Amino acid sequence: MKRWGPAIDATVLVMLLGAGLASPYGVARWYGALAAAFVGIAGSILALESMATWISERSSARLQGPRTRPRLAWRGARDTALASLVAASLLAWPLARMGAGEPTGLVWTLEEAGGLGPTIGGNLLAVLVLDAWLYWKHRLLHTGAFFAFHRAHHAYRDPTSLSSFAVGPVESLLTFWPIVLVAFPWAPHYAPVYFTLVGVFVVLNLYLHSGVSSRLVEATLPRLYVNTSAFHNRHHANADVNFGEALTLWDHLLGTREGDRRDPRPKPAPASSAGPSAA
Ligand SMILES: [Zn+2]
Repeated sequence: MKRWGPAIDATVLVMLLGAGLASPYGVARWYGALAAAFVGIAGSILALESMATWISERSSARLQGPRTRPRLAWRGARDTALASLVAASLLAWPLARMGAGEPTGLVWTLEEAGGLGPTIGGNLLAVLVLDAWLYWKHRLLHTGAFFAFHRAHHAYRDPTSLSSFAVGPVESLLTFWPIVLVAFPWAPHYAPVYFTLVGVFVVLNLYLHSGVSSRLVEATLPRLYVNTSAFHNRHHANADVNFGEALTLWDHLLGTREGDRRDPRPKPAPASSAGPSAA
């Protein structure tokens, strides 16, 4: 799979971009929506990532001490642009439907969303289900066959915010596919909450990869089982632990936090019985 990973990534990207040729809302409209979505997503994410990197690289609260590993800033920006293209190819569907005057799942009143109770309950459930998906997706990407699609993200051993969304096409599709759900009227998304949650996810992901920690944030978010920079940075330094992406719930439940796992390496023999090989 290591050899085929880049070819499968490229095929997935071509299929996502080629799908617009079958758009029932007009091919020109779909590719117009794709272009607008790409400029909007890549432009805003790269601007936010650059600002966050500029600030955090000047901070003294670095988690891995003085930087010895490369930032890979240009590589991060390039990979982010590619991931934005995948996200844009998904967003193009609800946008094209809107452009064609068809109903979508994006609603602006609580009444259309099903009322206050169902909206709160539905969004809480959606966050938990999405977090479970992100955790298990990440575990899957760390199994032998699938690591080919995730390996590049682990090049950022001491990450910067420019690596926050620097993932390949297959991983981008597995992460961003829920965007397509907005196209369907049977899946109402209450716009004020939906855009807030997307914004929170983006800002959280910038922090997770910033390479620095904030004392206030680290004292608050872990109490709510929300992921933090101190927690996720350890996953970049040691890829065997801390798989949670949005929350840390599943790492707690399954004992995959750093410190939960026993060190699989054999312990060194006591000094008194150490042979010549221990020297
Ligand atoms: Zn990983």
